[in-house]
Amino acid sequence: MPLPKAELHLHIEGTLEPELAFELAVRNGVELPYADTEALREAYRFEDLQSFLNLYYELMAVLRTERDFEDLANAYLARAAAQGVRHAEIFFDPQAHLARGVDMGTVVDGLWRALGVSEDAHGVSTRLILCFLRDESAESALRTLDAAKPYLDRITGIGLDSAEVGHPPAKFREVYEAAAALGLRRVAHAGEEGPPQYITEALDVLGVERVDHGLRCMEDPALVERLVRERIPLTLCPLSNVRLRTVDVLAEHPLPAMLDAGLVCTVNSDDPAYFGGYAGDNFDAVRTSLGLGEERLRELARNSFVASFLEDDEERRARYLAEVDAYTF
Ligand SMILES: [Zn+2]
Repeated sequence: MPLPKAELHLHIEGTLEPELAFELAVRNGVELPYADTEALREAYRFEDLQSFLNLYYELMAVLRTERDFEDLANAYLARAAAQGVRHAEIFFDPQAHLARGVDMGTVVDGLWRALGVSEDAHGVSTRLILCFLRDESAESALRTLDAAKPYLDRITGIGLDSAEVGHPPAKFREVYEAAAALGLRRVAHAGEEGPPQYITEALDVLGVERVDHGLRCMEDPALVERLVRERIPLTLCPLSNVRLRTVDVLAEHPLPAMLDAGLVCTVNSDDPAYFGGYAGDNFDAVRTSLGLGEERLRELARNSFVASFLEDDEERRARYLAEVDAYTF
């Protein structure tokens, strides 16, 4: 049985495996510029963030109907459950779908058809987090939040993703303030490719409660000290960092140093179909490549539940933490 864990950094569009992409393409009459799933899997060998994003947006063309989003989420939840994920806080990118003429209701209702029954179907509790694309305008983010208003009973929080450099957090001050006023939780990608100042800005200007990635905080000792003092969780994605060349090889990943520094680190899969593994695969990889012992792995699993947005269900959080404490490796 795998170690129980929560997944807090997972883009649902990034769980689209080549097989499902082809199945949905056929169902919807969408022509993909790849001969077969093998050729598509070959295209998954991109070199950096931009080439990954190009493929990621290209493949979204196959997601058209509620049923497509339901199938996508169900496929992820089944895989995650098999790797010990007990709770998943799932990102989605509505702007990428709205731009293709797929409306907010189709996306949220479709995802919810899977998320709403996930506990019974997969034994995984869920939350949904709406992400803004940071390479789109601040006005577009505001319009997107507006479009989401009828669905806020199913949306727990907001995030910020896509190409980081040149799009500092402060650009989105207004939409984060509006989201806070609506009672939404706030996270943002910062310090993956962007500088440590982006992390500080995400905390001070956007009021984020968790930082997604945050890897580059290690370049700024005063920032590390602050993150430790304020117990700000970081959602790290080790296999993603290797595939996108944020670190050269997994053995050089700063995770052990970050844990030693007292940072509240969690391990997640980011876009698992593209980056070579789901949550449990990431745990296995850091165990093997970084030599993390059982107590470090247990700490990572505990952190994932502590950092999750389960304030509305503390009983459940306590139950999950007890599962982690009782786990025998
Ligand atoms: Zn991400």
